[in-house]
Amino acid sequence: MSSKSAVWHPFTQHAVQPEAILVDGAEGAWLHAPDGRRIFDAVSSWWVVTHGHRHPHIVQAIKNQIDRLDQVIFAGFTHPPAETLARQLVAITPPELEYVFFSDSGSTSVEVALKMALGFWRHRGENRSRILALQGAYHGDTIGGMSVGERGVFNAPYDSLLFDVERLPFPYPGSEQATLEALKAACRSGGIAALIVEPLILGAGGMLIYPPWVLSEMKQICRAHNVLFIADEVMTGWGRTGTLFACEQADVTPDIACYSKGLTGGSLPLAVTLCRADIFEAHFSTDRSRTFFHSSSYTANPVACAAAVANLEIWQREPVKARIDRIAATHARRLDRFRDDRRFANVRQIGTIAAFDIVTSDAGYLATIGPQLYKDFLARDVLIRPLGNTIYLMPPYCSSDRELDAVYDAIEGVVA
Ligand SMILES: *Cc1c(COP(=O)(O)O)cnc(C)c1O
Repeated sequence: MSSKSAVWHPFTQHAVQPEAILVDGAEGAWLHAPDGRRIFDAVSSWWVVTHGHRHPHIVQAIKNQIDRLDQVIFAGFTHPPAETLARQLVAITPPELEYVFFSDSGSTSVEVALKMALGFWRHRGENRSRILALQGAYHGDTIGGMSVGERGVFNAPYDSLLFDVERLPFPYPGSEQATLEALKAACRSGGIAALIVEPLILGAGGMLIYPPWVLSEMKQICRAHNVLFIADEVMTGWGRTGTLFACEQADVTPDIACYSKGLTGGSLPLAVTLCRADIFEAHFSTDRSRTFFHSSSYTANPVACAAAVANLEIWQREPVKARIDRIAATHARRLDRFRDDRRFANVRQIGTIAAFDIVTSDAGYLATIGPQLYKDFLARDVLIRPLGNTIYLMPPYCSSDRELDAVYDAIEGVVA
């Protein structure tokens, strides 16, 4: 057997990045390497693990389900975990969200949302097909997801495939009104099908936070102009911003909402797109050409759905909110020291997410400092993946104060 790996890794420049670290186990907030090394997972394995790796209740639910039903075609067939999950999702989201469409990643949940929006207007006989999005947004790496996301080094080679989107400036502090005015102007220009937003925080776009009142105003403007409001809660959902869903903080009910990442507690891939009844009804017809033509082979995989049901049970049974509040308090306490430290800028926090920028002459995603920091943190057995010169922490909710303090100590050590 050749020792050279055949794996092509995501978001990895194999020519300059060190070999991937082999991990053969995980528990709680820790990744286990075969040689006994333990690495603290301060980014929740790319934002998916909420309660911790291998939460016993989720592991048990997966084991129980695999013994009964592994997979079944989801057109013309259904199964208990999907039915239970859909019912419970409808119950915990705002009352207007009544239907659940399953898929298997955040990107596909966004594709589904965009297709729902365009199908809605087409079947209603209205000519609305343009999409609005925020500058700096990230909505996934499929063609539709990239189209509504920020353009740049990530998608330049595929530019010819991406569709045009109208962009609203990001509501930086002090310039929120410009965003709202741009939204109003775009809505008035006509032909707009939907606005898609990451509520309260742009994740991959650099952990940029904006206040709930802006989200709420954006929703009201959309409503006044009959523009569908799509909330991409793929990252913000499941407690990340301090509430179960970020939209709650703005008292906003989206017309369409995307959830993934923490949906299964981070154990298995699954995504859902929830929508209002009239979006479902626009596709409901004896005319078969109005069918919602979308599916992935593994749509609503029973084992993944069972894991998601177990996740919801954990939210009901365990003091998840208290854990989130504790992590938020620890972030606040430690970040406080960074605020008047001139090596740091834009120190910010929302719920369990903490972020700050390292002051450097070459900012941006390809800032040379990023890979160096990544290596330095790993040398201290902490997994932190800076977004350029932005360092962020998004730990699993099982992380203790002591563990988080150790992470902050590592940051202070590395930056010194
Ligand atoms: C991660 C992410 C996606 C894409 O999800 P995948 O599961 O990686 O396809 C979409 N939108 C947002 C806001 C995300 O953070």
